[in-house]
Amino acid sequence: MSLNIGHLIEEWARGLLRDPGQYVAPRALRECTVCDFEGRFMTGPGRRERRCPNCGSRERDRIIGLFMRREGLTVTGKRVLHMAPEAAFRRTWPAAPGYVAADLVPTRTSERRVDITAIDFPDARFDLIICNHVLEHVDADAKAIGELYRVLDPKGVAIISVPVAADRLTTWTPPADMPRTEVDHICGLGHVRLYGMDFEDRLRAPGFRVERITFSSAENERHRLADEIVHLCRKDRA
Ligand SMILES: [Zn+2]
Repeated sequence: MSLNIGHLIEEWARGLLRDPGQYVAPRALRECTVCDFEGRFMTGPGRRERRCPNCGSRERDRIIGLFMRREGLTVTGKRVLHMAPEAAFRRTWPAAPGYVAADLVPTRTSERRVDITAIDFPDARFDLIICNHVLEHVDADAKAIGELYRVLDPKGVAIISVPVAADRLTTWTPPADMPRTEVDHICGLGHVRLYGMDFEDRLRAPGFRVERITFSSAENERHRLADEIVHLCRKDRA
């Protein structure tokens, strides 16, 4: 593990503003699956012990980190498409020639412009695709999922997640004339729909075989993973 001193200072300072009480509250020793940091996690939006202070990972980042650890999967030597990359991964992963950090509008963490509904790469181009909390912002999500399917190698894996309302069986799309502020209030800021438990069916539509990344309660304790659902999508038949 390498200590990211600049980021640690930033997180501790932010923690002082966000929740000064956390420094005197009992906090367990945790381990980050993204950067391997061991120590006390920091308060994030709405929840204590949410962020790794060393890389800034959140629960879903660490669920992905856990899966990659188990599989011995790294970005080195792989052809990777990372949509809207999370800063925690960018801070931790070494620069790798096959790694594409992409977004519709390039940001601090992404260099390559990619429209997820028309990905300008050939079929079966990537061994690993990571696409978290992107599809809820995309109008043509079925088209986007079809594109992720198309550019994934037959032996590859796509890691995909969206915010899912666990109490909803079906996805809700707001009426076209609903004011944006009301949509934001119901679906989340900038989201164009509220996914329900049928999200997996949407992933299966182009042909993906879908599993979830699962973890034990001990792993949940150790790495602070929470109840987010992260999907593994493959093209091969198990
Ligand atoms: Zn970390």
